[in-house]
Amino acid sequence: MENGVARRGWNFKSYGALADAAQLTIRGTLNTIMCNLDGGDTRPTIPLGHGDPSVFPCFRTTPIAEDAVISALRSAEYNCYAPTAGILPARRAIAEYLSRDLPYELSSDDVFLTVGCTQSIEIAVSVLARPGANILLPNPGYRFYEARAACSGVEVRHFNLIPERNWEVDLDGIKSLADENTVAMVLVNPGNPCGNVFTYQHLAKVAETAKKLGILIISDEVYGHLTFGCNPFVPMGVFGSIAPVLTLGSISKRWLVPGWRCGWLVTNDPNGILKETKIVDDIKNCLNVSSDPATFVQGAIPQILKTTREDFFNKTIDILRQTAAICFDKIKEIDGITCPCKPVGSMFVMVKMDVSRLADISDDVDFCCKLAKEESVVILPGSAVGCKNWLRITFAIGPSSLEDGLERLKSFCQRHVKK
Ligand SMILES: *Cc1c(COP(=O)(O)O)cnc(C)c1O
Repeated sequence: MENGVARRGWNFKSYGALADAAQLTIRGTLNTIMCNLDGGDTRPTIPLGHGDPSVFPCFRTTPIAEDAVISALRSAEYNCYAPTAGILPARRAIAEYLSRDLPYELSSDDVFLTVGCTQSIEIAVSVLARPGANILLPNPGYRFYEARAACSGVEVRHFNLIPERNWEVDLDGIKSLADENTVAMVLVNPGNPCGNVFTYQHLAKVAETAKKLGILIISDEVYGHLTFGCNPFVPMGVFGSIAPVLTLGSISKRWLVPGWRCGWLVTNDPNGILKETKIVDDIKNCLNVSSDPATFVQGAIPQILKTTREDFFNKTIDILRQTAAICFDKIKEIDGITCPCKPVGSMFVMVKMDVSRLADISDDVDFCCKLAKEESVVILPGSAVGCKNWLRITFAIGPSSLEDGLERLKSFCQRHVKK
């Protein structure tokens, strides 16, 4: 061996499998799109791709949350490791917070703290994995589920959300996809990427369907309460006595602090089915071989959940209602793209490309690459959420940047639409 080089070469190298899983994620796709940005453009880049409004001053979190973290940190009570499932006061506070919208009381034992909703997804998919298992995922959908299923070797089957019915679940599709190896279905409500909010009646039908099929419902409610249309937010846990529900959430979206990395995985299961099937034990096992949110952020959770004032939530909702309307109205003016449903929740809207009207654009990825290059506007191609030749636009950015971005999108389409 000379100069530190092993004689027969190094024994380790990339196996390539992770690249496939990463390509599925929104982050992976956006990185590809952003490679096209033109460094010579002096205009600011408008980020309509991923949903992180926290960088805009109008979406700053409440001082109550900031103070809660500061006092937790300064108390020196949270410099320790936390218990596997999270510190008890935080679990209790989350149980109380979620029970407000339920017909029964959750206990702190139902709540597990996670590193954002992202880790809740990892845990939920991992505990359900077994040879031959399959999981039903929505299309369009939040592809992190697909990526995690790939990591755990769980087969994915897609059911459709139907744009003509405000993105409701195709329940007949679910029945025809499921078999005895189907372990769960995933719902994201309020919806990412569709900006829809399911009605009480529809959720009840979903629960009945899950019961018939003998499957668990994983309900991703990371956008819980971020609704600004006619449909109020109804948590899936309301139907937990029909079929067991794992509710996933975090403070990332409602409190506008995705960087704080604190979320939860909650069993909504008044009949104790998840205990009986030992899924609860596996959640604990899984957390035991994993990491947990910073203890001082856990320490801040009770104060954040109990003392945040309605006027903070209302302000966020008011801005989102306004920016959703700006987005929907502006897209109506643009030739070459259409928006089938006005967004009524979350931070996103799905927009359909009319490829036959566009002159020199082959598909959604091509559209987004050229848009980034020519207009310094970043949009997510629909294929990253399972819908080729659609686009996902976030409206959770400052209103003036949004108007600027949409104006540039309009000029782009004007240049590329067939004359
Ligand atoms: C943002 C998001 C997550 C991840 O939430 P974090 O708390 O930031 O980890 C999970 N699911 C959906 C649908 C999301 O949009």
